Amino acid sequence: MSLPARRFERKFRAGVLGATGMVGQRFVQMLANHPWFELTDLAASERSSGKKYGDAVKWHLDSPVPESAHNLVVKDLAPNLDCDFVFSALDSSVAGPAEEDFARAGYPVLSNSKNHRMDSDVPLLVPEVNASHLDAIPLQQKNRGYDGGFIVTNPNCSTAGLVLVLKPLADAFGLEKIFVVTMQAVSGAGYPGVASLDILGNVVPFISGEEEKMEAEPQKLLGKWEGGRFVEAGLGISAHCNRVPVRDGHLECVSLSLKKIASIREVAEVLRDFAVDEELASLPTAVRNPIVVVDEDNRPQPRLDSGAGHGMAAVVGRIRECSLLDVKLALLSHNLVRGAAGAAVLNAELLASRGFLHHRDAVNLKIAEPVAR
Ligand code: NAP
Repeated sequence: MSLPARRFERKFRAGVLGATGMVGQRFVQMLANHPWFELTDLAASERSSGKKYGDAVKWHLDSPVPESAHNLVVKDLAPNLDCDFVFSALDSSVAGPAEEDFARAGYPVLSNSKNHRMDSDVPLLVPEVNASHLDAIPLQQKNRGYDGGFIVTNPNCSTAGLVLVLKPLADAFGLEKIFVVTMQAVSGAGYPGVASLDILGNVVPFISGEEEKMEAEPQKLLGKWEGGRFVEAGLGISAHCNRVPVRDGHLECVSLSLKKIASIREVAEVLRDFAVDEELASLPTAVRNPIVVVDEDNRPQPRLDSGAGHGMAAVVGRIRECSLLDVKLALLSHNLVRGAAGAAVLNAELLASRGFLHHRDAVNLKIAEPVAR
């Protein structure tokens, strides 16, 4: 993890919607010692609101519930939280209108949910892939009459690792077709998620809506924001999504066809050399080389590799020729970090760095908040 080069006079106050869920608690953990953000408010369903966070949450992480969050009282979804911006880890049954309510009330919303990802004026963001899509925010605010608020989303957990690996290949060789088969961890289904009797010693070859998301989201992520609209990448993508009895980490077997002829060695080099620019490297959650290439024949594996780059790296192995397309490989990424909370925290850091986040007292007073650089 790189050291933050930019600092702000005071931390931005973050709220978490859906703070009690699998993704929500990752946010709480990641915000506990964040150099730029401070967790100040939490919200969840009626089941949790009114309780202290430590009593409401069924905590699943290795470290204890952070002191700073333990006694915060969980609130409901009314858009009047004590914070400058919110992360949303809400169930998709409620996320759509709730996130709009917060954006309308002036809060920047960093969402994990599927509801607004494909909206024509909402960035679907992976900073290493399409940071320029943030240019859509002013149009979104104009279209929707948002004053200070906006919505930025991160992709579905299996798409997050995939596009990170596709990006340098698209830039170096061009991409035509992608065939991907996933083996997705149970934590990707939230809590309580998949019943143990359905998944123990078993594989379920269906995850509702997942294949559609994996086939649609990379088109937007690898496309362009041009002339006031998103232009899709025009890739051929076919996805098979499976739930497997693994706790954390989605493994994906991918076959690709490239526009330019490339050797396996060149493909491996491009992946190994992929490095973020100085702006991204200065963000606290960024890793300078977000793709880790492993040489062992039996890697990557979820248990051994999903923590690479503090969960923010995609680990690639088994790069070899494909007899149907051009190249095939296996990739792994942590669904709750790179695929969810870590992705949104990185997005928020990029927004802060580019001056999109403000202290709400300053917003309310209509004073422009200077961004320290
Ligand atoms: P989860 O464990 O089921 O948590 C859902 C959260 O939403 C809980 O905090 C829950 O609060 C809250 N909630 C549910 N109904 C609500 C309501 N009516 N009003 C207010 N809050 C409500 O799910 P998750 O896995 O954390 O996923 C959260 C979101 O992130 C989903 O949209 C999911 O698709 C997306 N996502 C998940 C992953 C992953 O790997 N798990 C990856 C990427 C994206 P209570 O505890 O109070 O019920």
